[in-house]
Amino acid sequence: MAASEIIQFDKPQQIDLDKCVHCGLCLNACPTYRELRVEMDSPRGRIYQMAQVSSGAAQITESYIEHIELCLACRGCETACPSGVQYGRLVEAARAEIEAVIQRPRTIRLLRHAVFRKLLPSRFNLGMMGALLYLYQASGLKRLVQTLDFLPRRLRELESLAPEIEIPFSFRHYGKVLQPEGAVRYRVALLGGCVANISFARLNDATIRVLRKNGCEVSVPAAQTCCGALHVHAGLPEDARKLARQNIDALLDGNFDALITNAGGCGSTLKEYGELLEHDAEYAEKARRFSMLVKDVNEFLASIDLNPNMQAVPVTITYQDSCHLAHGQRIRSAPRKLLAAIPKLELREMTRSDLCCGSAGIYNLVHTDMALALLKQKMDCVNATGAAVIATANPGCMLQLRAGVRMFGNAQKVAHVVELLDQAYGEEHSLTVVVPKAV
Ligand code: SF4
Ligand code: SF4
Repeated sequence: MAASEIIQFDKPQQIDLDKCVHCGLCLNACPTYRELRVEMDSPRGRIYQMAQVSSGAAQITESYIEHIELCLACRGCETACPSGVQYGRLVEAARAEIEAVIQRPRTIRLLRHAVFRKLLPSRFNLGMMGALLYLYQASGLKRLVQTLDFLPRRLRELESLAPEIEIPFSFRHYGKVLQPEGAVRYRVALLGGCVANISFARLNDATIRVLRKNGCEVSVPAAQTCCGALHVHAGLPEDARKLARQNIDALLDGNFDALITNAGGCGSTLKEYGELLEHDAEYAEKARRFSMLVKDVNEFLASIDLNPNMQAVPVTITYQDSCHLAHGQRIRSAPRKLLAAIPKLELREMTRSDLCCGSAGIYNLVHTDMALALLKQKMDCVNATGAAVIATANPGCMLQLRAGVRMFGNAQKVAHVVELLDQAYGEEHSLTVVVPKAV
């Protein structure tokens, strides 16, 4: 299919826009509307603007771009909508259309090119960046920069949200097949992510251990790449399609029972490869089969007979839903079921656990003021529970919540559900959670 033919699908489609009946039932579920009380920053207002552009009644202006970009793409409105509006699909298409018609300043274009095309898809470049950042963080240079306090406010904010680098990187698992403890019950492949390989390497290790404890032979195919979620959210669907094809080629023919991800955001996009490649004659059917095999690690573990040989993890926790797990994939009970299986772990639900924490991919780096305002509200809800640990199911949320604890919290620990399971299976050394020895 010619590029021009493909591009006609990379804009909001009338059939999707027409589903909105402007009832407004989504407004209270929208973090940006709750914060600003501006109709144009609500789901209904954004859909109205998209429809105006689509019909030709309005142009793509700076104001339109601002309202579309301020959306977190958290899809809370999708859950709230009684008319079945696929808002995530709409906002991704609106962003793709914007990217196709505007010319960003040269520095921004170069930056986007470097991040989306050179860094995220490249294991080598991610490894190099990880090594440099690790030297900066481990050598004391970072502490010196913080002590001297000469960075402008914007850079200080960005630094506070930057991930800690974890060595050794989980790229070391690539190309390996790791055997389960005991008999093989399932053959699964792990999708390691992109930045997660250098900043959540211990989470990937924990995921592999927990899967092996549950009878999984875990393959980490070397030819896999970034899932493309950040590209889709940034209006770069063609880049995402290239990555999707590479992942399909790398994993589909492996005869796996499941393709596992520990990132709610990645899982949501991986499960939508079928839609992403629906107009690709060669890959459409493969993409649908691929998406059917993708399972979030919570979803997978909650669906099998879980290894019950766990030790107590006597902590009070509260669970923050990952938006793309709760709203994108409609998975809410699986992580809670896993947490309930851990002896002596007490779950205290916070109010509005499914309202976005402000992470949203790279949103917190681009719209830092809004992201921090949402994070402050989130931490107020967390603090009210009195829980010592915040559990979640997406690395991006973990980063944001760790920043939230530093800025607004009560020294809570932040852990992925899988890390808590890993601890229950006896791997305390890898965790961010410190559990008293006496039970
Ligand atoms: S997106 Fe759904 S809930 Fe929101 S105004 Fe439209 S129809 Fe109503
Ligand atoms: S995706 Fe989230 S931020 Fe965007 S309109 Fe929907 S609820 Fe609001």
